[in-house]
Amino acid sequence: MALERTFSIIKPDGVQKNLIGEVIRRFESAGLKIVAARMVQLTQAQAEGFYAVHRERPFFKDLVKYMISGPVVVQVLEGENAVAKNRELMGATDPKKADKGTIRADLASSIEENVVHGSDSAENARNEIAYFFATSDVLARTR
Ligand code: ATP
Ligand code: MG
Repeated sequence: MALERTFSIIKPDGVQKNLIGEVIRRFESAGLKIVAARMVQLTQAQAEGFYAVHRERPFFKDLVKYMISGPVVVQVLEGENAVAKNRELMGATDPKKADKGTIRADLASSIEENVVHGSDSAENARNEIAYFFATSDVLARTR
């Protein structure tokens, strides 16, 4: 087991539906610590850059429009196997396919409006954290 950091976004639908506390409660209950957090309104350029891997996908334009439709909460989670643990808590991209008890199965309304983003690898986590946070924004929570 390795102490890891991962990057999480509570997406516009999650904020709009007042689910910030519910999502963070699930992270904390699973032993993940919030080591950085901020609410931001993404610009179009920021959202396009963040999801650049999907720019050729048919849903890209709608995805960007959705991600800039309201404020989001960006955060860094720390814990044992944080990347995989967060993906487990989130559930599959499509809430209809997500396991019961996951954030997306319980709280999401569609494959697009699915409440949370989470890094899918340790390397992507490092890049995504750096996209939103300075090193000095991420606080040690070892005590
Ligand atoms: P995320 O990267 O947001 O954590 P994910 O890794 O589960 O989600 P990706 O395949 O990376 O899924 O897709 C990124 C996001 O694009 C999804 O979370 C969803 O909001 C949107 N998306 C993915 N597939 C579709 C689709 N078929 N139709 C509409 N939107 C989609
Ligand atoms: Mg993804």
